[in-house]
Amino acid sequence: MAKEKKSKKVYKNGFNLLEKYPIEFSEKVGTVKYDGPIEAFDFSFPRKKIDHVIINLCPMEPWALPNSAVLKNGVRNILDKLDIVRTRYFPKSHCYVVISTQETKLIKESKQHEGHEEWLHVHTLDPIYPNDAPVLIVKKILGLDIAYGRNTVEIGVLVLDPQTVVGIFEHHIRKNEFSTRLIPISGTGLRENKILEVKPGTPVQKILDGNVREDIKYRVFVDGPLNGSEVKDLTQKIDWSTKNVVVLEERDYKTLFHFARVSELLFTTSLMGELRCCIYCNYCDDICPVDLEPALYWHCYIRGEKQKARLYALEKCIECGLCSFICPSKLELLQVIKECKS
Ligand code: SF4
Ligand code: SF4
Repeated sequence: MAKEKKSKKVYKNGFNLLEKYPIEFSEKVGTVKYDGPIEAFDFSFPRKKIDHVIINLCPMEPWALPNSAVLKNGVRNILDKLDIVRTRYFPKSHCYVVISTQETKLIKESKQHEGHEEWLHVHTLDPIYPNDAPVLIVKKILGLDIAYGRNTVEIGVLVLDPQTVVGIFEHHIRKNEFSTRLIPISGTGLRENKILEVKPGTPVQKILDGNVREDIKYRVFVDGPLNGSEVKDLTQKIDWSTKNVVVLEERDYKTLFHFARVSELLFTTSLMGELRCCIYCNYCDDICPVDLEPALYWHCYIRGEKQKARLYALEKCIECGLCSFICPSKLELLQVIKECKS
């Protein structure tokens, strides 16, 4: 019986979004002109001693900034900056560069440097979303446990993206002006997927101008449609933590089993159409990267027993959004989970 259940699994413990929804970005980096007030580069140096710095060079979402953009001057360039930043601000720490198992050239180059630097450690990770979530990456790279929502700094671990390393180097060490961030924009609502150089402080609307397809309804997300947030007010500004902007055409019909049948990421949502029922398919249980049973939360919620949901390890949910994504009934599981948590 156990074997039979296993053969039914659609996806287990995560989802390879990059393979399923490959996104091509135009090679040329565009510039967004904005003359309004901008935000100066900002990085809060931790007060606590940092023992480990994790640099994530392993994008796991197709809408994330590709390494080709951020490493255009070579991995050596970033590693040299990282060494200077580490020596100045996080002395005696060890740095862990995390690279996708698919990026053999980058692994080889990085390993060459690792051989000469005792502080540098190169790790590989399967690009299965959400392996890069702080809870999971800290566990997989360092073997440390941290509860969802806690700052990794509390256990002496700093997780940085490569653009922030460059920002600290340029702004705090070189004292150069550092005023732009690379923001990838992508999605079915756009004419073209692009990488844009944007000054933090720029409204999202400025980024969309001239890039959104005409005569469609669309929804805009920052930091991805799975667990990012929807932009309801386009005057919302890009900031130094914004990772990406995704624009999805909103359709007034639902695409059943979208994760299995389409090559392009199509999100239809429960904002339109009828509320469906749970069909007990267990897809959400199978895909959950932390082995929860999201359907349980749904059933507690619709019975009006939000408190009861907490009996089923709700606090372990890392809010990756995969359960909502995979659910063929398009149930808003992540939203329900957040409500049950609160
Ligand atoms: S949002 Fe939570 S319950 Fe849903 S798949 Fe992710 S970790 Fe599991
Ligand atoms: S909540 Fe959705 S994915 Fe989970 S068992 Fe029900 S229908 Fe299937």
